[in-house]
Amino acid sequence: MSESNLTIQEFVEQYAAGSKLSFQELDDLGLYPVPCDCGDWDCNGWQMATNNTPDVSELDKETGIVLMLKLARGAAGR
Ligand SMILES: [Zn+2]
Repeated sequence: MSESNLTIQEFVEQYAAGSKLSFQELDDLGLYPVPCDCGDWDCNGWQMATNNTPDVSELDKETGIVLMLKLARGAAGR
């Protein structure tokens, strides 16, 4: 776990910038953020998941999908 833990929204913003995809495009791909506890040295505490990602709780999935919808609609601000 790195020293700079991100909020879930900061993580998605960085992911979007790094992948050069818009929030809408990420949402279209079915990607959404969920907590990650893999323990990798460069893990920032989040990962992007899809419907095929194993071991995602229903609550984490719902939270991530709702955030992606808000970001895709531009409702979450920056
Ligand atoms: Zn991780």
